[in-house]
Amino acid sequence: MSAIKIAVVGASGRMGRSNIAAIAQSEAFVLVGAYDRTGVEALGVDAGVLVGEAPLGVVLSDDRKAALGEADVVIDFTMPAATIELAKYCADRTVAHVIGTTGFTQAEEKELGMASSGGRTVKAGNMSLGINLLSLLVEKAAAALDEDFDIEVLEMHHRMKVDAPSGTALMLGEAAAKGRGIDLAAKSVRVRDGITGARQRGDIGFATLRGGGVVGEHSVILANESERIEISHRAENRGLFSNGALKAAAWLVGQKPGFYSMRDVLGF
Ligand code: NAD
Repeated sequence: MSAIKIAVVGASGRMGRSNIAAIAQSEAFVLVGAYDRTGVEALGVDAGVLVGEAPLGVVLSDDRKAALGEADVVIDFTMPAATIELAKYCADRTVAHVIGTTGFTQAEEKELGMASSGGRTVKAGNMSLGINLLSLLVEKAAAALDEDFDIEVLEMHHRMKVDAPSGTALMLGEAAAKGRGIDLAAKSVRVRDGITGARQRGDIGFATLRGGGVVGEHSVILANESERIEISHRAENRGLFSNGALKAAAWLVGQKPGFYSMRDVLGF
């Protein structure tokens, strides 16, 4: 079988570099393009050299057409506005689009749905096998336990992260809400400050920590008066997200047009 042709978008970013390194280390994939926005320092640098591997013969470019033209799949960990624009580009050209970008507002989620219409898309707030399993366990735990158990989602990430709560924390909140059969938007408490009053029964709370180089830590806590269950996950490095993104890419090339999640990819 010939290698799947991948273009990485946001190529000079933390996840972009991790994705390039994962492609360089695999025989199932070949890097055919590395795209980033005008002005980033690494433009013109060979993608392999950028990530400490042997040269790959693909330089980072801000010419989207040239960088993405040959790709079967585009792997995109960038910013919501960039991802929405790219979704339209991919759908118009029947290029599969794997989206790891987080931080979409509800309006942006809608825009993305429209922009990607007719295309093949996988989007996940977290691409890791472990987190997707965690989300399934949270859904089951929330379904099994009644509202005597308060649900809180705690997350910590590196100091450079720009959105909060993390896409993964929201995904875990959605899983808990789904298990309970409630609407997360109506029950979520995203910030607590000052005299907040007592916790309301059935709320799903979020708490955010930021610091240092933490790749990603998430815990879902279910607590009643006499016991507490904690389900946790720690990302040790960014490789787990890249492995998930490549798994999604390999799966997506064989699918019909549609908007899929990592649960679809992993068969959960
Ligand atoms: P980063 O800031 O290091 O990298 C983002 C990259 O996107 C940069 O290189 C930037 O130049 C590029 N970019 C921004 N606008 C662009 C545009 N218009 N066109 C092309 N490139 C553009 O950030 P990061 O840590 O790599 O994270 C990127 C995104 O991925 C964030 O939303 C983050 O939360 C998310 N993320 C998701 C997962 C997951 O598993 N789904 C895991 C880690 C990070």
